[in-house]
Amino acid sequence: MPSRLALTIVAATLTACAEPAAKPAVKAEPTPGHASAKLEPATPATTGAKRSTYSQCNVAGPFIAITFDDGPHGANTPRLLKMLKDRGIKATFFVVGQCVAELPEIAKQIVDEGHEIANHSWSHPLLTKLGEGSVRDQIERTHNVIRQTTGAVPTLFRPPFGAFTANQRAWAHATLAYTSILWDVDSNDWKHRSAAKTESIIRAETRPGSIILCHDIHTPTIDAMPATLDALLGKGFKFVTVSQLLAMHVEKPPAPKAPPAKPIPAKDAADAASSPDQQQSASPAPAKP
Ligand SMILES: [Zn+2]
Repeated sequence: MPSRLALTIVAATLTACAEPAAKPAVKAEPTPGHASAKLEPATPATTGAKRSTYSQCNVAGPFIAITFDDGPHGANTPRLLKMLKDRGIKATFFVVGQCVAELPEIAKQIVDEGHEIANHSWSHPLLTKLGEGSVRDQIERTHNVIRQTTGAVPTLFRPPFGAFTANQRAWAHATLAYTSILWDVDSNDWKHRSAAKTESIIRAETRPGSIILCHDIHTPTIDAMPATLDALLGKGFKFVTVSQLLAMHVEKPPAPKAPPAKPIPAKDAADAASSPDQQQSASPAPAKP
């Protein structure tokens, strides 16, 4: 992991939240790693229990949650809020604490307009490289600034780059009752910076129960939103906040054990391998982070 480089780039990226709308746009450095960093798989819950981590939910209906990370941003977040308001859509904002401190009015607007606000650390470091005290400081400072600024008490946490150790996740769950939220639809907006790609990825990959990852600090992401949101509404999806999605989640029963595989004659095996349908049903979808 190029941690030193990553942290340097992240530090540069964080100036984005403080830019006033009137200033000429500064080309932001890429925010690396959201797609590459992986957490350990969530432990399936026992019946009736809640997990400490979710990447998507299992819901009985066309419900989805769209999430925006790394803000608030002086120009892009207010623009996005207007688009959401015009469509009656509620979203979830995983905010960076120091951006909340720099742009408190926008953080308050997020909450006042009915969206969920959640914790994304104080300065967006790679938490897995920090000591225990620093990690707690990152999370607690952000928790406190969100409370003091907006009056809302966050209950969700998303680790920067999706990277969190099992101990860190357990501490956040035990101490702040945080549920850690990853995603199953990664727009990769920070990487390609293309409104068309953001829209096409989200349209293609969103399913009932999806948690969609976007970043409201990037202008092309906001440019993509009117068409993206309208397309999802047109498909019949209903937007809810992540907490609302979690409340609808039903744990799937464990899959029944497969019967012992029978040996397949060589000719049949060759036929099955050449059929796209067979291949599709034989291999499960690749796991998302
Ligand atoms: Zn982030």
